[in-house]
Amino acid sequence: MSEPRPQQPRPTESTPPETFAQPWEARSDVRITDVRAIVTAPEGIPLVVIKIETSDDGLHGLGCATFTQRWQAVVAYLEHVRRLLIGRYPGDIEDLLRLVRFSAYWREGPVGNNVLSGVDMALWDIAGKRAGAPVYELFGGRVRAAADVYLHAGGSTVEETADEARELMASGLRHVRIQTGQPGIGHYGAPPTADRYTWAKTPTGWRAEEYLRRTPALFARMRETLGEEVELLHDVHSRLTPKTAVLLARSLEEYRPFFLEDVLAPEFWDRLPAVRDASPVPIAVGELATSASDAARLIRTHAVDFIRCHLSDIGGVTAGRRLAVLADLEGVRTAWHSPGDASPVAVAAAVALDVTSPAFGIQEGHVYNEATHEIFPGMIDIVDGWLTPSDAPGWGVEIDERAAARFPAGFSGHDAWAAGVRAPDGALVAP
Ligand code: MG
Repeated sequence: MSEPRPQQPRPTESTPPETFAQPWEARSDVRITDVRAIVTAPEGIPLVVIKIETSDDGLHGLGCATFTQRWQAVVAYLEHVRRLLIGRYPGDIEDLLRLVRFSAYWREGPVGNNVLSGVDMALWDIAGKRAGAPVYELFGGRVRAAADVYLHAGGSTVEETADEARELMASGLRHVRIQTGQPGIGHYGAPPTADRYTWAKTPTGWRAEEYLRRTPALFARMRETLGEEVELLHDVHSRLTPKTAVLLARSLEEYRPFFLEDVLAPEFWDRLPAVRDASPVPIAVGELATSASDAARLIRTHAVDFIRCHLSDIGGVTAGRRLAVLADLEGVRTAWHSPGDASPVAVAAAVALDVTSPAFGIQEGHVYNEATHEIFPGMIDIVDGWLTPSDAPGWGVEIDERAAARFPAGFSGHDAWAAGVRAPDGALVAP
C-alpha cells in the first residue's frame, strides 16, 4: 500500500486587507467585486479569458490570458491576484497593473504576464463600457479604417500550398503566409511530405539543409503561379542559426517576401541586429517574447523590421501600446501574433492597436469555428482580408459561459506540436 498523498496546500489569508485598499479617493464609487478565469476549448485549443465584475449592475470586462500549453498555471496564478483587485476602482488601470506586477516581486514570464494581460484587457473593456465608447477611441482614435490581415497557406507539397494560397486570395486576402512540408515531417504550419530519410535515426527528422533548399523553390513556384500582386510571408519558427538565417534571407530576395518571421530562437536574439543588417528582406521577430522590455530591446537595437508579440505573453494591450509608440519612433512596424491560440477578445484588442497606431504593418488572423462564434458573441471576423473593429463600447465581445462550459479544456495538443520535431539524428529541434 502506498502512502496517502498530501493535500495540495491552499493559501490562507494573512496580509492585512488594507495593504491593497483603494489608495486615493476615486472619482466614482464603482468597485471591482470579483475576478475569475473562464477556460474553454471550442477548437481543442484551451483559451483562457479573465472576467472582472464590478459593483455596477452588469458592468464587467473581459481580457485574454491564453497560455494554451500551461493554462492551469495561469488559472492558479490568478488566485494570488484577485485579492489585490477586489474593492479597487477599475478606472485606475495603470496602478492596478503595477500592483499585479510588483506584488509578485519576480515579475515577467508567460504565466504572470498572461494573468496581467487578462486583467489589463478586462479593465480597458470596463473603461470603454463606462465611457460608452469602443476602446480604440480611448486609445486616441483611429488612424486607419481597418487592419489588413494575413492567413496561413500550408501543404505537404508546393502545389498544395499554392492551392490553399489561391483559395485565400479568392476570399479577398492580399497577404498570405506560405509553408510547405519536409520529408516525413510537417515543417511549421504544413503537413509532412510522403517521403522519409531512409538513412536517418529519425526518418521523419527536420533538416536545415533540406529546408534551405526547399524554401526558395517554394517561393519561386508561388511567384510563378500566384503572380506579383500577392504579398508572401514565411515563418522559419526559430529553427536556424544566425548564418543560415542570412543564407535563407539572401536566397529569397528575388521573390520579394513581405517578411521572414522568427529566423532565430529567443536565446540568440542578441545576434539579430547583425542578421537583420545582412538580410535583404524584412525580418519579423517577437512572438516568443515574454516581457515588454525584451520586445522593446528588439526595436531599440534595430533587430527587427516588424515587431510581433503574442500580446498576452507580454502583459496585454497596455504593453502593446507602449511597443507601438516605440516602433513608430524607430521606424519599425507591428505585426501582432494572433492565430488560433489567441481568443477573440485578444483579436479585438490587437485590432484596437492596429487601427490606432501609425506603426501598424500587418495583422495575423485566424478563421474561428462556429462554436467559437457561439461562445463569443460580438467577435469580429475577417471580411475581404480586413479586420474592422467593433463600434460597441469596450471590446464589443462578450462570453456565453454556458456555451463555453460545453467545451472543457484538456491538456493542450500544442505541447506535442512544440516538442514534436526532431533532427535526423534524433535530437529535439527547438520551436
Ligand atoms: Mg510564428
